[in-house]
Amino acid sequence: MFIAGESLSPGVLECPAWRGCLRLHGQPMDQASISFAADRMLGRLARMLRLLGYDTDYSPRFTTAALQETAREGVRTILTRGHAENRFRGLTNVFSVQSELAPAQLREVVERFQLDTRSCLWTRCTLCNARIERVEKATVVDQVPPKVAELHEDFFRCSGCGQIYWQGSHVERILKNLAALLNPEQ
Ligand SMILES: [Zn+2]
Repeated sequence: MFIAGESLSPGVLECPAWRGCLRLHGQPMDQASISFAADRMLGRLARMLRLLGYDTDYSPRFTTAALQETAREGVRTILTRGHAENRFRGLTNVFSVQSELAPAQLREVVERFQLDTRSCLWTRCTLCNARIERVEKATVVDQVPPKVAELHEDFFRCSGCGQIYWQGSHVERILKNLAALLNPEQ
């Protein structure tokens, strides 16, 4: 079981966008048909896409052969970087970002696929890609620091790796940073 910590875990944001997400928990997203598999050099991009709520398969151990197989299955769009013509010749569901920087890569993907960057923030675990579900406080109270249990009432748990999330001020900072990444001119 993973226990969320200030430096690792986002917790859950108390903001209008996040409340909207809570209503969406367990319900299909409008763009549920869009899913990705990110090349191994795109770990930070993968985590940011998960933060936006998009199903993004990623492992730093992904091989080209594994990604080619995923591409041939035709479900996920492969995200890679640089010149992809040789590695993914003949495969159409491959998108190659040009930037070496994750924020710019995210903007490229958001623009290319017209991703919704607000509706499903933080509905997916950034660590493992599984959905996050609301849980009763009593079921996790012995798995979080006492001060966290004392200060918070709303808890969520990743259905995959078990990571526990809760509302925290650091979440607002992270999402503000994300908004700044997506709108650098503002
Ligand atoms: Zn997880």
